[in-house]
Amino acid sequence: MNIIDEVKAGLPADADVSDIAFEGSEIVVYVKNPETFTANGTFIRALVSKLKKRIEIRPDPSITKDMEEVRETIKKAIPEAAGLEEITFEPAFSRVTIEALKPGLVIGKGGELLRKIKSDTHWATVVKRAPAIQSDVVATIRKVLFKESEFRRKFLNDIGKRIHTADKKEIDWVRLTALGAFREVGRSCMQISTPNSRVIMDCGVKPSTKPEYPYLQIPEFDIRALDAVIISHSHLDHVGFMPYLYEYGYEGPVYSTSPTRDLMTLLCLDYVDIGEREGGGSPYTTRAVEKAIKHSITLEYGEVSDITPDMRVTLQNAGHMLGSALVHLHVGEGLHNIVYTGDYNFERSKLSEPTFTDFQRIETLITESTYGAANAIQPSRVDAERKLIDKVMATLKRGGKVLIPSFAVERAQEMMIVLATQKDFNYPVYLDGMLWDATAIHTTYPEYMSRELQYKIFHQGENPFLSPIFKRVGSATERKEVINSTEPCVVIATSGMLVGGPSVEYLKHFAEDEKNTLLFVSYQAEGTLGAKIQRGWKEIPLEEKGKRVLVKVNMEVDVIDGFSGHSDRNQLLSYIHRLRDRPKRVICVHGEESRCLDLAHAIHKNFRIETLVPRNLETVRLV
Ligand SMILES: [Zn+2]
Repeated sequence: MNIIDEVKAGLPADADVSDIAFEGSEIVVYVKNPETFTANGTFIRALVSKLKKRIEIRPDPSITKDMEEVRETIKKAIPEAAGLEEITFEPAFSRVTIEALKPGLVIGKGGELLRKIKSDTHWATVVKRAPAIQSDVVATIRKVLFKESEFRRKFLNDIGKRIHTADKKEIDWVRLTALGAFREVGRSCMQISTPNSRVIMDCGVKPSTKPEYPYLQIPEFDIRALDAVIISHSHLDHVGFMPYLYEYGYEGPVYSTSPTRDLMTLLCLDYVDIGEREGGGSPYTTRAVEKAIKHSITLEYGEVSDITPDMRVTLQNAGHMLGSALVHLHVGEGLHNIVYTGDYNFERSKLSEPTFTDFQRIETLITESTYGAANAIQPSRVDAERKLIDKVMATLKRGGKVLIPSFAVERAQEMMIVLATQKDFNYPVYLDGMLWDATAIHTTYPEYMSRELQYKIFHQGENPFLSPIFKRVGSATERKEVINSTEPCVVIATSGMLVGGPSVEYLKHFAEDEKNTLLFVSYQAEGTLGAKIQRGWKEIPLEEKGKRVLVKVNMEVDVIDGFSGHSDRNQLLSYIHRLRDRPKRVICVHGEESRCLDLAHAIHKNFRIETLVPRNLETVRLV
């Protein structure tokens, strides 16, 4: 019996089924009997546990009630305190999405309110959190998905058919092809292939004045034969090249967590924008980014999803940044398990829990090696936080201003939480550059943050991101006001390495006053202004109204290590030690060559595991 017939056999006789369809890895049953739809059917639980598939019952469009009427019913049913923001219909899925600031109050105790809405309206309901800070990116993505719902239904049907009904060949090999970030950092990309499927994990750029991209021109890579793309997290060196695939004919899905989808949209759009502004151009257009959104499928941590006829993916928390994930690929029925770590931090930070370790089985672990060298040890987070607060307070108390150059995503939000949760901290913190948009996306997904933060937000009603100390700098005029003000304050601004952007504007005006402090909290790449100042330059050439000027650096300059989103050498080793299942083979990637080799050597010595350090373009046979 095929799977569709098995589902049919498990449904109540009076369900009045109008359609059974695959939607991605899920099976959706459309019924005309409203009672089957609204009933808390035990038959569903029985089917799910028998077939090991997600099954959803939706109403046939003929029984859904009038949309305007339903809108009123929902508005009346939901308590004022829920903060209802938006009600959107997707007739193609017989689905209505309710966006509210407090989704819990829409769902009600034990799901009671939501059940009532379902039975009063005969619509499938989804509840989403509205960002506490208005986010244009989140709004745009949700709009694209709603606008394209007809397309999405067909797209998901096609993927489902391919997963469930394709003729499966026997899997007598599994291979990994190194397409980028092997013995280097940047342009992360690898292909995993079997006789039935081809999947790539990450597709990044190596940003520099002459950017480098993954090796997609080789015969082993065929864009038309690609089944799926999986993105570990939203940094450009992991996702910056992904939209290119959609510019050149890829029409399959891109899997990631929801925060990764949203942050990657923000960062890739900015990447296109910078390319155009600075004349270098970019390898794809904003249209490609929009196409990627249209083809996106999001997964929660721990959600198991079939993605090809012989591969199943699960994403788990990596602790590196909001939404960052380890990718677990299960190949065949118990044949081979791969874990690709992406970037990960095996230490609790204010923002995230440490990396997930509880995998049932791993045969091949593909680990990052950024801090793989024997001497790459970082100070602890607690020490770093204490040093940050000490430096900030000393500056503010002497009447100075603190400038923290930061990337828009992750480090900036980490700094915000450290300051906002500091007792009695009452100075203004100005946020300038794209980091405001990134923060807005953060407020959409508290479920992806550390337990401590979630406790604060959900149980104490205190969201550090909404603290009154934070002020957005939204224009050149507002920037001037901050620069001219005599009040002590903190400024967090992009770019993180002082290469253009508002951070350089602040530096120009803050540098000569010795009361002020410049704090480096992230890595400064060779050749950047940040690296030069770190090395002790006391006079820096800058531009002012088109003219070159020399600015004296009299302000205090400090470097605070320990905020890295990566695991240091000790944490990399202790991560492998703590994994529930000891991998049979470890492949070291994403690190300078010597660091990858060094880490591989240490892993082999400590754990007696086979280690490999492939070069770009090599293929390794895993099975
Ligand atoms: Zn990263």
